[in-house]
Amino acid sequence: MSDIRTKLEKRFDRPGGYIECSDGWDWILEELHEKLVFLDRKYTILQVKEKFGTLRFYLGEGGKTKNVAVLLMHDAIRYAEDMSAHTCELCGNCSLVGYSERGIEYDKTVGLKFSEYGWRRTLCDTCAKDLGYRASREDD
Ligand SMILES: [Zn+2]
Repeated sequence: MSDIRTKLEKRFDRPGGYIECSDGWDWILEELHEKLVFLDRKYTILQVKEKFGTLRFYLGEGGKTKNVAVLLMHDAIRYAEDMSAHTCELCGNCSLVGYSERGIEYDKTVGLKFSEYGWRRTLCDTCAKDLGYRASREDD
């Protein structure tokens, strides 16, 4: 398991909580964790998962941080969730140019893809092909 997953899983309010998304988004979680620790070093997590193709990150009870810090934490979470819509959940490739400087390859093929049964995931073309996902369904 990656370092960031080990770190985050210690922060769940509920014992046994785990990160319910693939590890392509680990670098997004790493960056988010750095911001959240800065704002509330005792922050806790209720749930982290993939839903309808993007990241969902729910804070727990935390360190009772108040005021502007809480607003900034929610801004940081929204930014991470938005970033997940441009980042392959399997390999971490990102379609936003600025993120190539992180050593993550710029890949403009990343986007929402659909399985034969309509399941949605954010994938690059290479990973989508491996899983049998396509850019859109014929009946969309
Ligand atoms: Zn990929």
